[in-house]
Amino acid sequence: RSKRRGRGQITVYSQEIAQEMKRATQIEQALRNAIIADQVDVHFQPIVDLRSDTVVGFEALARWCDADLGYVSPSIFVPLAEERGFIESLAETLLRKAAQAALSWPKELFLSFNLSSAQLMDPATSSRLLSIISQVGLDPRRLELEITETAVMADADVAQKIVSELRAAGVRVSLDDFGTGQSSLGRLRDFSFDKVKIDRAFVSRISADRASEHIIKAIVSMCEGLELEVVAEGIEDFAEALKLKALGCGMGQGYFYGKPADAVATMRYLSDRYVAASR
Ligand code: C2E
Ligand code: MG
Ligand code: MG
Ligand code: MG
Repeated sequence: RSKRRGRGQITVYSQEIAQEMKRATQIEQALRNAIIADQVDVHFQPIVDLRSDTVVGFEALARWCDADLGYVSPSIFVPLAEERGFIESLAETLLRKAAQAALSWPKELFLSFNLSSAQLMDPATSSRLLSIISQVGLDPRRLELEITETAVMADADVAQKIVSELRAAGVRVSLDDFGTGQSSLGRLRDFSFDKVKIDRAFVSRISADRASEHIIKAIVSMCEGLELEVVAEGIEDFAEALKLKALGCGMGQGYFYGKPADAVATMRYLSDRYVAASR
């Protein structure tokens, strides 16, 4: 009985795999074309200092909407670009656009840019990134790079070299999605970071369970000792914002403070809030 079903399943699976590969290739082609045609966009989400309730920077988030495929999430197309070997050209386009937009913001605001794991395995990454922002004219001290634990683990020696070269140039580095990867606390000791971003998974459960609250409290206290800034990701309402402030979390980001928006809407956001806040 199992034999026949088994064989049937194999057919179904291999068809699914074939379908998936076909779709991946379709996305790859469309994305390569979109990069050339300058159709991949970048949006910006505010990062707020919870102690003063002011915007301190923006995270750049890749956005792409294809005519046939519709909206494709960066969590799909970034890994695909890595696998298929064109993450470099995607990242270059994105950083160029993001840095360009940041030139219009008040100078004290930073730009936070996500680095993919493939970039952290390539020793040429630091000089490449620095040359892009220097061409655009963005001060490296206004740039922050977000890297994940998983990416750091892939090739720790190369990653460490890239991070120290960037930090030597004045770029800050934050550890993204903290608490979700195969974390090793040793990583925080051996690597030089400036910031830790607590993953949304903890923040979204903060009102529902005490465990998340305790975990956040522990991360905050550990980061205080290590002199690392803490950012809570995915703050969606006022109650969460209040709780995180009470737990001593210094910075926050999430729909409550602002959804990712394009460069024009970001300037509007700033003229509405930023000027008013600094008066
Ligand atoms: P991430 O770096 O952890 O970015 C945060 C994600 O959470 C973003 O999803 C953002 O839109 C979403 N988010 C922010 N606040 C809230 C909230 O209050 N509620 C909810 N439900 N979500 C919130 P997005 O833009 O879909 O990006 C997903 C991931 O794709 C990013 O996670 C990052 O790992 C990757 N990514 C995005 N842009 C880039 C890029 O330019 N380069 C690289 N290498 N990766 C990127
Ligand atoms: Mg990020
Ligand atoms: Mg994150
Ligand atoms: Mg994430």
